[in-house]
Amino acid sequence: MNRTEIKQIIAERGLRPNKKLGQNFLVDGGARERIAGAMGLSNADRVLEVGPGLGALTGRLIELAGHVTAVEIDAGYSRYLAERFAGAANFRLIHGDFLKSPPDESFTKIVSNLPYYCSSEMLFGFSRYDAPNVYVMLQKEMAERITASPGNKNYGALTVALWFYYEAKALFTVSRESFYPRPEVTSTFLRLSRRSSFLLEGDDIELFHNLVKSAFWGRRKTILRALAESPHLSDGEGAPSLGRSRAERLLDGAGIDPALRGEDLAPEEYVALARAWRKAAN
Ligand code: SAM
Repeated sequence: MNRTEIKQIIAERGLRPNKKLGQNFLVDGGARERIAGAMGLSNADRVLEVGPGLGALTGRLIELAGHVTAVEIDAGYSRYLAERFAGAANFRLIHGDFLKSPPDESFTKIVSNLPYYCSSEMLFGFSRYDAPNVYVMLQKEMAERITASPGNKNYGALTVALWFYYEAKALFTVSRESFYPRPEVTSTFLRLSRRSSFLLEGDDIELFHNLVKSAFWGRRKTILRALAESPHLSDGEGAPSLGRSRAERLLDGAGIDPALRGEDLAPEEYVALARAWRKAAN
């Protein structure tokens, strides 16, 4: 589908790209083929596509994968998709909000040209599925945050929180001209490969996320102050925060210099903090 075709469908049906829903449609056949190629699809794949829009990518997915489930929030676009792919036996369309009612199925691959207004919520929504690979189109700046290394200005809570589930790799950039309407920024197509096992389990995963939030909540503070004063951690005895002496013991238990800042710590050091917390609690 090129820009003219998309504009025509939208005009014929009285639809209008809704900025609030992050509707920027892919109109570049070359970019669509690069995406499909990068996904290495086969008949064995069960694909989840979130936000298919007018189906720029969906048609290719249906041709190449064994089965495709697509979730689209917009009623007008859902009606169009239902008609366009009515004959496809390996396609299921769900009209709904993925964030509120994610489908209860298992997938081998997840793909989304992410709506910008909720990109990170979507990514954490995907992390609940055990799909080995997730492919997303997102703002270049956000991709840089996801793939950043410790000490880099883009390294932050999002980097570490997603690192827990995935190894991230930016595959290629896609220009603003490839979308209608043109977004304000360049996009990056990113692959997230799910880790074969996680370094923490059960409640310790939530603890890890709270430690990460705390460390970056106090971005300009030392890790000691950030953990001691964070509203995301409690001492378990009714105090609103952890307090200095417990934070000191925690850092000591994890072998981390209290004078460092959250952005200096490697993701593995956040795992060490969660383990030290658990050890101190037992
Ligand atoms: N995949 C299409 C393409 O590349 O042309 C459209 C991509 S557009 C950036 C994002 C799509 O996500 C839109 O169709 C929008 O309506 C849909 N969307 C936004 N929020 C959603 C949600 N919470 N659940 C499901 N779909 C959503």
